[in-house]
Amino acid sequence: MSTLITGMHHVTAMASGAQSNLDFYTGVLGLRLLKQTVNFDAPDVYHFYYGNEVGDPGTIMTFFPFAQMARGRKGRSQTVRTSFSVPEGALEFWMERLRRFGIGFTQPEERFNEQFIYFEDWDGLGLELVAHAGDTRQPFSRPFIPESVAIRGFHHVELSERVYEATEELLVNMLDYDFVGESGARRRYAPRTGSTGFLDLVWDAHPDFGSGGTGTVHHIAFDTASEEDQLILRERLLRRKVFTTQVLDRQYFKSIYFREPGGVLFEVATSGPGFAWDEPVAALGQELKLPPWVEAQRAAIEAQLEQINQDMTKYA
Ligand code: ZN
Repeated sequence: MSTLITGMHHVTAMASGAQSNLDFYTGVLGLRLLKQTVNFDAPDVYHFYYGNEVGDPGTIMTFFPFAQMARGRKGRSQTVRTSFSVPEGALEFWMERLRRFGIGFTQPEERFNEQFIYFEDWDGLGLELVAHAGDTRQPFSRPFIPESVAIRGFHHVELSERVYEATEELLVNMLDYDFVGESGARRRYAPRTGSTGFLDLVWDAHPDFGSGGTGTVHHIAFDTASEEDQLILRERLLRRKVFTTQVLDRQYFKSIYFREPGGVLFEVATSGPGFAWDEPVAALGQELKLPPWVEAQRAAIEAQLEQINQDMTKYA
């Protein structure tokens, strides 16, 4: 049977301030702002996409900055950590950089024979940098973050659940992931295609359910190569009584959503058309892009949005 899921596509989380979110992910972490658009269901809120040079699936971190939203709480049935891959030997650079901007982090620990540090963004979102050898993905590099240490994309996402069995069954039988390792109350799965981007299930971390809000992940998205594969997968999910939405047009990809048995919201997004269909690669992220159905309201939308400044010289 062919593989319908090729690996990770993106992770979407909630933030408070737009500028502070932009500063953290482009200034401190050095990702590229790939797209400024709005939440298609609430066009008075930005939707920022960050990633590598072109926004390859598996490198894309996205945020909805909701200025008025309360902070969420990490807990069960949530994606509690999002981990990025950096080259071996890069953690020293990153610890120095986090220290310089007053961002707390844990000393390096080891998991599955790899070193990692844990830290949080300014809204409390759980993040890691993992020193991962042999990651050949092309990073976005800036003068102040050399390519030799720059973030390559996702290393893994960590889901906190009560039990793992039903989620594992879905991952292995429907989503083309394989079990690859166990460490204490953690089980790791890898895309069958061999692409980088593990999924870890952890079942002893949180006795209580998490609550949504700023500083929490809203959903994680898997990549599928084509709209045809997406429809085949949707049919398979529905046949197994996994309630799945209609295909939704997210402009840069097409999406379906469903909740996995442990309670985490999953999305399956198409690889294409990608971020360069409505502006050239060299200009990605510089201007506010709106979907055609809200373009007529541009002036009113722009008037409501927080003004942002992409000058990151203070992070150089
Ligand atoms: Zn999404």
